[in-house]
Amino acid sequence: MNTTIDFQALPTPSYVVDETLLRRNLEILKSVKDQTGCKILLAQKAFSMYHFYPLVAEYLDGTTASSVHEAQLGHEEFGKETHVFAPAFKQEEMEALLPIVDHIVFNSPNQVKLYAEMVKNGPRPIEIGLRVNPELSTQDHALYDPASPFSRLGTTSVNFDESQVELLDGLHFHTLCEQGSDALEATLVAFEEKFGKYLRGMKWVNFGGGHHITKEGYDIAKLVKIVNYIKEKYDVQVYLEPGEAIALNAGFLVASVLETTYNQMNLAILDTSATCHMPDVLEMPYRPFIIDSGEADEKAHTYRLGGQTCLAGDVIGDYSFDEPLQPGDRLIFTDMAIYSMVKNTTFNGIQLPAIAAHTVKDGTKVIKTFGYEDFKSRL
Ligand SMILES: *Cc1c(COP(=O)(O)O)cnc(C)c1O
Repeated sequence: MNTTIDFQALPTPSYVVDETLLRRNLEILKSVKDQTGCKILLAQKAFSMYHFYPLVAEYLDGTTASSVHEAQLGHEEFGKETHVFAPAFKQEEMEALLPIVDHIVFNSPNQVKLYAEMVKNGPRPIEIGLRVNPELSTQDHALYDPASPFSRLGTTSVNFDESQVELLDGLHFHTLCEQGSDALEATLVAFEEKFGKYLRGMKWVNFGGGHHITKEGYDIAKLVKIVNYIKEKYDVQVYLEPGEAIALNAGFLVASVLETTYNQMNLAILDTSATCHMPDVLEMPYRPFIIDSGEADEKAHTYRLGGQTCLAGDVIGDYSFDEPLQPGDRLIFTDMAIYSMVKNTTFNGIQLPAIAAHTVKDGTKVIKTFGYEDFKSRL
């Protein structure tokens, strides 16, 4: 990963996002827009570092939100189009959303029935969509599969209410997670078969997120072909709302080694934590990469890396290094812009990482630090 971030200058722990790496992704996404006329939204649940929203807004068309708070953030800091989806909305959430959003995607015919009138009489024109469930699983990771059996996410074809078609401006589906355009292609076959007939006459279709567009090897030509096919066949605007792809590999988590110890193997305790600062390591689960490290036993000195919390399983993984770890050594975790700062917690009162930006103009700069009040104010 090519970055000129001055990792030594940063406090630890801190997340740092690199403008140049972010732009690299955004250029790729922009090229998809240019070849298809599709609109691309930032799914804020993956990346809400609004410091960079003006930069992202140079390339993309708006944001999508999973809640009132995310919608408000997108509206305030990004501008352009603000979209929102939730499995169900409360009356007071709808009241908060109506003045700030452009699209509301409902999860069920009943939610459409409850709120369509309110939306139509709202203070601004808002387009109404329905999230549908193509019921085709293209992955076997149930935690991240909205098309899995018994899923609450999206209206299945048997539950679709044809009498509501004229209330709907568009359809939305979201079933992918870190997947290629072949999975999208398969999903669209199911989508068209079940819902294609309703799409004719609507204004748009939203393909959701989970498109790993900026990952090396993603078949962009196929995505372009698919988007253009749907656009032309149904005469609709296509939206994509990736989260991960926008800031993939654009950020790092910098941590320090605090202590090394031994219990049948070398252990190292860091000032970062899997459970607090990179919860997807445990939830997904996955093994993040650390710069200049190897797999266990690949290099001379292998350590099991863990955090400061009292959770026994707060373990990041086993890594090997050329030299023995020493207190004060810095470890740089890669791909830490996404699903990191949006998901972290202060469990155990653990310090939240600072947030830093690395830009061409200003170099490496801490833009946010956290302290006791951030911990206390939530309790
Ligand atoms: C999570 C989610 C996204 C973004 O997903 P990524 O995997 O980060 O691209 C987009 N839309 C909806 C409805 C989502 O739930």
